[in-house]
Amino acid sequence: KGSNIVTTETASRPETHAFEADVSKLLHMMVHSVYSDRDVFLRELISNAADACEKLRYEAIATPSLLGDDPQPRISLTLDADQGRLTIEDNGIGMTAADMGETLGTIARSGTKAFMDRLAADAGKADSQLIGQFGVGFYSAFMVAREVEVFSRRAGADDAACWRSDGLGTYTIAPVDLDDAPQRGTRVVLHLLDDAKSYAERSTVERIVKAQSGHVPVPITLFEKADSEGALVADGAALWLKPRSEISEADYADFYRSVAGQYDSPAHTIHYRAEGRFEYSVLTFIPQTKPFDLFDPDRKGHIKLYVRRVFITDEAPVLPRYLRFVRGLVDSTDLPLNMSREMIQDSPVLAAIQKGVTGRVLNELQKLADSDSEAYLRIWENFGPVLKEGLYEDFERRDTLLGLARFKTTTSGDDWRSLKDYVADLRENQTAIYYATGSDLDRLSTSPQLEGFRARGIEVLLLPDQVDNFWTSIGVDFDGKPFKSVTQGGADLTLIPLSDGAPSSPQAEAGALDSFIAFAKESLAGSVSDVRVSERLTSSAVCLVASESGMDRQLEKLLANAGQLPQASLPVLEVNPGHLLIQKLATTDDANAMKADLAHLLLDQARIADGEQPSDVRAFAERLDRLMRRAVD
Ligand code: ADP
Ligand code: MG
Repeated sequence: KGSNIVTTETASRPETHAFEADVSKLLHMMVHSVYSDRDVFLRELISNAADACEKLRYEAIATPSLLGDDPQPRISLTLDADQGRLTIEDNGIGMTAADMGETLGTIARSGTKAFMDRLAADAGKADSQLIGQFGVGFYSAFMVAREVEVFSRRAGADDAACWRSDGLGTYTIAPVDLDDAPQRGTRVVLHLLDDAKSYAERSTVERIVKAQSGHVPVPITLFEKADSEGALVADGAALWLKPRSEISEADYADFYRSVAGQYDSPAHTIHYRAEGRFEYSVLTFIPQTKPFDLFDPDRKGHIKLYVRRVFITDEAPVLPRYLRFVRGLVDSTDLPLNMSREMIQDSPVLAAIQKGVTGRVLNELQKLADSDSEAYLRIWENFGPVLKEGLYEDFERRDTLLGLARFKTTTSGDDWRSLKDYVADLRENQTAIYYATGSDLDRLSTSPQLEGFRARGIEVLLLPDQVDNFWTSIGVDFDGKPFKSVTQGGADLTLIPLSDGAPSSPQAEAGALDSFIAFAKESLAGSVSDVRVSERLTSSAVCLVASESGMDRQLEKLLANAGQLPQASLPVLEVNPGHLLIQKLATTDDANAMKADLAHLLLDQARIADGEQPSDVRAFAERLDRLMRRAVD
C-alpha cells in the first residue's frame, strides 16, 4: 500500500511535493494569523482524530479483524513543555502514504475557493467561525507550529509513513519503521512556534479541550510526559443518549460546536427519543448564524446518521433540503449495522425517520413561533429563504410552512407579518393575497404598480428572495385566498374602496383615451403585447405588467437571465387615465411629430421604474435629446 508514491529505490529518501496553489495561499493566511483565536487548531485536530475513530468503527462492521486486540477508540494528547511539543494521537483508521498525499496536500472540498475569497476580503477580522466548515481544518495546525509531522499506519496495513512540512510551500512523505508509528492510526506532532509554547502546558490544553471538545464521542486522555499516567479529560460518552435533565445548556452548546463545526451557540435545540414502531434518538440544533454553505448549489444537509452509537454517514437524507440548516444527529436502533450506505438511503426505516424528524422540527418551529416570536423571527431572518423552498418542494407540508412563513409588507414597516395576520386585515371585498417580487425591497415598495393598492390601504407582501418567484407561480393559496402578483393581469381593484384621504384620481371619460391607446399600440408594436387603462396607478403615468396568462415578470427575468427561456413574452403597458400627461396625449393630434417619441419615452420610463434598461438605449437618448431641446427652445 502506498507504493505508488514511495518506491523501493527511494524508500530511504523522503519524497518532496509542492502544496496545491490554494493550500499555499491558505497556509499563508493561516500563518499570518487571520484568526484571532488560535485555540481552534486543537479542536480541528481532535475532530479529525475522532472522525478517524468513527471511520474505523464503521469499516470494522464488515471487517472486524481491523480492530485487532485494540477495539476501544481513543485519543491521546501528550505534552512536552521542555521540547515545546504537542502530540495528538488516535487509534482510528489511519492513512497510507498515498492517502496522505491526497488529503494533506490538497483542498478537496467545493466551496473552499469562496471561503478563501471571503477570508481575503475579511483579512484581519477574526473569522475563526469559518475554519473547519471547508475541510481546511488540518492546516490550522500551522497557526501554532513551525513544523508538523504526521506518523500514520492504516488499519490492516503492514507499513507506515510520515508526512512532514513547515507549511512553507512543500511537504515530504517517507516510509517509517513500524516502531516509529502508532500500531494503528495517526500521530500528529506539533513543534510549537516560540509564541505558542503554552500549547504544551497542561492548564492551557485542558482548558481548551474541555471548552471545545468535551463531547466528541471518543474518550480523550492527557499525558504530561510520554510515559506518565494519563488523565481523562473527556469521557467520550454519547451526549444524545443521556436524559435531557442531565444536560446543561453549556453541554449542548459544546456538543453543537463539535458536531456542527460551528463556532456560535445554537439558536434552538431539539433533543428527544422517538419510540414506537421505530426507535431513534434525535439531537439537532438550529444555528444562530448562517452556515457558510447554505446556498451552495448541492444544498447538502448535515445530519449525521448513527446506528446504535456507530457513526454511519453524514450523507443520509434525514431531513429535506429545505431544512439543511439544521445540524446534529440521529441515532437509530432499527437500521442494520451491516447495511451499505447506499442501501440505507432506500430503507423504509430511514423514510420513517425522515418523516418523523421533519415533522418534529417543523412542529418545534411552530411552537417557538407561538411562544417566543422574537426568537423565532431571528431564525426566520436567517433561514426563511431556505424554508420557503419547501413551499414548492413539499406539497404535503405546504400549509404548515405557509403558517411558519413571515413577510415584510407595504404596511408592516420593519415588522414581520404572518399570513394569518394578513388575512385578518383584508380590506372590504379583497379576495386575494397580493404580493410583489423583486430583489430590492426599497425599490419594490416604491414601484408604480403598487400605487393603487396603497391608495386603497391594501397590504402587499414584499417578496425579495429568488425562491419567492417559484412558489408563488404554482397556484398556492392560503385560507382559500389565492396569491396574486401586483404586476400581473388586471388589478380588479375597483370594488375595493379607496382609503380616506387617498388621492382619488379623476378618471378620464370613457372612450376619451381610445385613440391614444390605439396610437400607442401601433407605435410600440413589437415591444408590448397590449396597451390599456390602468386600475393600479394613482400618480405615475405608466407601468408595465404581465398579461393574465403570462408568467410573472420577475420570474420571467430570472429564467431569462439563467438562459432557461428562449424568448421572454411581451409585457402590457398600463396608462393612468388620471395623469395629466396621458390626458393631454389623448387630445394630441396623431400628426404631431412628438407624439410617437412620447409614447416610446413612456414605455422606457416604465422599464426604468422596473429597474430595467430602456429597450433601445441609443434611440432613448435621441428622443430625450429632442425633448430637452424643445424644453429650452
Ligand atoms: P476534514 O476533516 O474536513 O475532511 P481536514 O483538513 O481537517 O478536513 O482533514 C483533511 C483530511 O485528512 C481528512 O478528511 C482525513 O482524510 C485526513 N486526516 C486528517 N487527520 C486525520 C487522522 N487523524 N486520521 C486519519 N485521517 C486524517
Ligand atoms: Mg477536519
